[in-house]
Amino acid sequence: MIQTAPKRILVTGGAGFVGSHLCDRLVNAGDDVVCVDNFYTGDKRNIAHLLAQHNFELIRHDVTFPLYLEVDQIYNLACPASPIHYQHDPVQTTKTSVHGAINMLGLAKRTGARILQASTSEVYGDPEVHPQDESYWGRVNPVGVRSCYDEGKRCAETLFFDYWRQHRLEIKVARIFNTYGPRMHPDDGRVVSNFIVQALREQPLTIYGDGSQTRSFCYVDDLVEGLIRLMGSEASFTGPVNLGNPGEFSMLALADAVIRETGSVSATVFKPLPEDDPLQRKPDIGLARKALAWKPKIELQEGLSRTVEYFRDVVSN
Ligand code: NAD
Ligand code: UDP
Repeated sequence: MIQTAPKRILVTGGAGFVGSHLCDRLVNAGDDVVCVDNFYTGDKRNIAHLLAQHNFELIRHDVTFPLYLEVDQIYNLACPASPIHYQHDPVQTTKTSVHGAINMLGLAKRTGARILQASTSEVYGDPEVHPQDESYWGRVNPVGVRSCYDEGKRCAETLFFDYWRQHRLEIKVARIFNTYGPRMHPDDGRVVSNFIVQALREQPLTIYGDGSQTRSFCYVDDLVEGLIRLMGSEASFTGPVNLGNPGEFSMLALADAVIRETGSVSATVFKPLPEDDPLQRKPDIGLARKALAWKPKIELQEGLSRTVEYFRDVVSN
C-alpha cells in the first residue's frame, strides 16, 4: 500500500461545534492538525480529548490578527454561527469574517496552501428562489441585525474568489445550511439545541413567529464528510457548493419531532419572530452530488436521537 505523508492542516474555529468534529476526523486520519481558536463561542472541552494526541496542537489566537504557520491546507471556520452570538458583538463578527479571511488567504498565499471557506446559506438571505442553488445571488438586507454575519460571509466569498482570480490560490467555498449535532452550545440559541434543552428540562419549547418558517437540518457527521470531500476535490473545482440536507421542516414540525424523541411533556409557547428571519431555506445539492459524490445519509430522526443522547448528559451535569 502506498503511504502518503501526513498533511499539515490548520482548522480555524476548531474548538467550536463543527470545527471540533472536523478536528476529530482529521486527527483520526493521521494528519497533523493545528486548531486555532479564540474561544469566543468555542469550548476547550470540545477538543480536550485530542490534546494528548501527538498530531494535534491547540493555539489560542484571534484570526482578525495575522498568523504565521507552515501548513498544506486551511479550513477557515472561525466565526460565531448562532444569531444571538454573532449579534452580540456585530463589529467583531464582520471583522472575523473579513479580516479573518484576509489573514487566512494571506497565509495560504505565502505557504501555497489550499484553503476552504465555511460560508453559509445566509448568503441567500430571505430567498425568493426555492430550493436555493448556487447560481442564486440572494436577497440580503445590508443594514439589518443579521447583516454583520450575512454580509461578512458574502464579503469573505468575494475575497476568496478575488484571491483565486488574482493570485491563483486553490480555493474551496462551502455554503453550509443549518447543521446540528453533539457539542452545539446548550445556550447558543439555535433552534435544535434550544428545543432539545427545553424539552429535556420540561420547559416550553419557544417557537418564534407562527412556526411555519422552514429550515433544512444536516447532521454534523454528514457535513464534515462533505467538507473533507470538498477539500480533496480536483483543483479546478472551487465551488461555491451547497452542503446541507434537503429535508425541509417547519419549526412546528421540528418541535413535534423533538418532543417525540425526548418523550418530554413540554408544551410550546409562541414568541415574536426575530427581525429578518428567513421564511424558508432548503438546499439544492445537485452540484455537491455531482462534483463531490456527496449526499447526507443521516435523517432527522436518527440525528435528533444522537443529539438528544448528548444533551441528556449536558443537562444532567
Ligand atoms: P461555533 O460558534 O460553534 O464555532 C465557531 C468557532 O470559531 C468557535 O470555536 C469560536 O470560538 C471561533 N471563533 C469565533 N471568532 C473567532 C476569531 N475571531 N478568531 C478565532 N476563532 C474564532 O459555530 P459552528 O456552528 O461550529 O460554525 C462553524 C463555521 O461554520 C462558522 O464559520 C459558521 O459560520 C459556519 N456555518 C455553520 C452553520 C451551522 O449550522 N452550524 C451553518 C452555516 C455556516
Ligand atoms: N427558532 C425558534 N425557536 C428558537 C430558536 C429559533 O423558533 O428557540 C427559529 C428561528 O426564528 C428560525 C429557525 O428557528 O426561524 C432557525 O433558527 P436558528 O437560529 O437555529 O438558525 P438560522 O435562523 O440562522 O437559520
